[in-house]
Amino acid sequence: MALTDLIPIPPNINPNLNAARQLTMKSLLGLPRGTFARDCRPVTHPVLRSLLRTADIGPLRVTGLAPAIESLREVVADIQQAQPEVFAIMGTAGMLCARLVRGSASSISNHSWGTAIDLTLNGILDERGDDARTTQRGLALIAPIFNQHGWYWGAGFPVEDSMHFELSDQKIRELHEAGAFGGGGGTLPEPSLSIGDRGQQVRRLQEALNARGENLTPDGIFGPATHAAVVSFQARNGLTPDGVVGPRTRAALGL
Ligand SMILES: [Zn+2]
Repeated sequence: MALTDLIPIPPNINPNLNAARQLTMKSLLGLPRGTFARDCRPVTHPVLRSLLRTADIGPLRVTGLAPAIESLREVVADIQQAQPEVFAIMGTAGMLCARLVRGSASSISNHSWGTAIDLTLNGILDERGDDARTTQRGLALIAPIFNQHGWYWGAGFPVEDSMHFELSDQKIRELHEAGAFGGGGGTLPEPSLSIGDRGQQVRRLQEALNARGENLTPDGIFGPATHAAVVSFQARNGLTPDGVVGPRTRAALGL
């Protein structure tokens, strides 16, 4: 069986790790630039710009945020040790790219901060969002190594993206506390959800709103429809109608 053969995405991936949330990224790192489009645009935030590095890491030549590059160096060294056959055929389809998430008009890709990387095996890019939820076998072999270093595997996204790895929400917070972002960021955010967030927490929020009369597609993507539903729920329940699901809104929804 070749390392590029497709297998089902394994269960129990990303133990104790969440994708880096939009609010965490914005609050702790700042916005890479003012506006975003579908294609890659330059980073204009001065502190973030000063933290960008280009490096050769094993077979990968990447440009990304310095703390992510340093961590990736450790990940790739472990892959070389534990999975030398995958190491030998690894390539990259890019790291830094300030743009929107594919298919979204509101979510900013974590590639925008240079903390995510897309991998190829033998030059082949794993198909994103394939109906069967499959992944290249080689990616499944190295995903636990990324996880050990605090990287979240994109196979866990609502629309699976198994070529994609990014610094997890937990790792971003840890790096922030260690001062790795050069004082460019702000304070730790409240554990709240808002437009642009994605994942299981958003899916649970959508299901809770549906149980209270909304008709959202529980796709785990906090887009404009979810935002409108949150605002409406808040207005009906005497909460500040700001579309941000903080502790009070969460409690009112029984989450
Ligand atoms: Zn990606």
